[in-house]
Amino acid sequence: MATIAMKFGGTSVADIDRIRHVATLVKREVERGNKVAVVVSAMAGETNKLVAWTNDASRPDGANHAALPDQREYDVVVAAGEQVTAGLLAITLNAMGIKARSWLGWQVPINTSAVHGSARIEGVPANDMKAAIEGGEVAVVAGFQGVAPGTRISTLGRGGSDTSAVAVAAGIGAARCDIYTDVDGVYTTDPRIVPKARRLEKIAFEEMLEMASLGAKVLQTRSVEIAMLHRVPTRVLSTFTPGVGGTLLCDEEDIVEKKPVTGIAYSRDEAKITLHKVPDRPGIASAIFGPLADAGVNVDMIVQNVSEDGKTTDLTFTCTRGELARALAAIETYAKTINYRDVTHDAAVAKVSIIGIGMRAHPGVAQTMFRTLADKGINIQVISTSEIKVSVLIAEEYVELAVRALHSAYELDTA
Ligand code: ADP
Ligand code: ASP
Ligand code: MG
Repeated sequence: MATIAMKFGGTSVADIDRIRHVATLVKREVERGNKVAVVVSAMAGETNKLVAWTNDASRPDGANHAALPDQREYDVVVAAGEQVTAGLLAITLNAMGIKARSWLGWQVPINTSAVHGSARIEGVPANDMKAAIEGGEVAVVAGFQGVAPGTRISTLGRGGSDTSAVAVAAGIGAARCDIYTDVDGVYTTDPRIVPKARRLEKIAFEEMLEMASLGAKVLQTRSVEIAMLHRVPTRVLSTFTPGVGGTLLCDEEDIVEKKPVTGIAYSRDEAKITLHKVPDRPGIASAIFGPLADAGVNVDMIVQNVSEDGKTTDLTFTCTRGELARALAAIETYAKTINYRDVTHDAAVAKVSIIGIGMRAHPGVAQTMFRTLADKGINIQVISTSEIKVSVLIAEEYVELAVRALHSAYELDTA
C-alpha cells in the first residue's frame, strides 16, 4: 500500500466517456490498496479556446491586434478548464462508489510566484488534502493552476499540469508520480512525426530536461526539474493502453547503454532577428541584449559574425514567435544608441536538437548532424551546443525531413 499521484492530460479527459475510463484507472489503484491524488488537465482544446477568448476580449473595437490582456485576469480565465475536469472526475468517481473530492489550486494550496501566465510553484503545504487522502478519500486536483501572493489565481504556463502533478506528489510524499498521456512513454522523438521512433525504457533526468526544454512537449520542463530535485519516481504511461510500456525518469548512472544520441527534439516556436552592420566595439552586445531583457524577451541562440572590415559586424539571435514583436519594438526604441544599418527578421524558422549524455564520450556527434543535414540540402542558419546537446536553426519547411533523417543517422529507428 502506498500513496501515489496520477496525472491525466487533455486527450485523456476529452469527454465524459474518457473521464469514466480515467475513473476506472483510479479505482483500480484504490482497489490495490493505494491512497491516490489525481491531477487533471482541461479537456482537450479547452485551454486554447479560453486563451483565444482572452485575446478577443482585450481587442479594442475595430483593432486588428489584441493588446496583451492583464495577465492576472488571463489566469482567472484559462485556469477554468481544469476546474471543470476536476469536478467532473470527482462526480464520476463518487458515482462509481469511490469517495473523492476536487481540490482547486488555492484550496490545496499550490503556492506560486506572482509571474502570472508562467508562475513557478514555490510550495505545496497540502496538510488538509493529505489528511483527506490518508482518510481514504481520492483527491482530484485541478492541474495547471495555483495561488499567487495576494490570493490571485495563477497558472503555470502551457503544459503545466505535469508540473502540478510532480509538485503534488512531492508535497504529499507520494511513492511515485504516474503521468498518463496519449503515448505510452517518452520516445526517441515525437512519434507523431516519426512513426519509427522508439520508446525509451528509461531516460536520464538531464536528458529529459533538455528534450522538454528543446520542444518535446510530452513533459513540461519544470516538472522534470521538480522530479529531479525532490527525487520523485516519475513515469510516463498511456491512458489508453495502461498495462504496457512506460518510461521511467532516472539518474544517469542507471542508464547502462549510453548511445551518443538518445533523442531528437524540435520546436517550431522560433523566430530569428538579424542586426546588420553593427559597430564592432566593446559594449555593443550589452547595449542590444540589455533592452531585450528589460522587455521580457528570452533570447535563445546568438551568433555574431567575424568583422570583415574591423568596424562592423552582423548579429543574429532567436526568441519565441510570441516575443518577436516585443523584441523588434525594443530594438527600434534603442536603435539610436546601437547604431546598426538595418534589421531583418524571419519567423518561418525552427530549431532541431539532438540530445544525449553519451555525447560527452563520443567525438564527432555534431559532425554527423551537419553532414546528414547537408546531404538533404538543408541549410543551417545558427548552431548552439552544450555538453549533452547540439541545436541547429533551419527553415521551418524542413523540420520533419531533418528530424527523420537525423533519427536514421543516429540509428534510432525501429527495425
Ligand atoms: P497531455 O495532454 O497528456 O499532457 P501532450 O500533448 O502535452 O499530452 O504531450 C503528449 C504528446 O507529446 C504526444 O502526443 C506526442 O505527440 C508529443 N511528443 C513530443 N515529443 C515526444 C517524445 N519524445 N516522446 C513522446 N511524445 C512526444
Ligand atoms: N490545460 C493546460 C494546457 O493546455 C495545461 C496542461 O494541459 O498541462 O496547457
Ligand atoms: Mg501536456
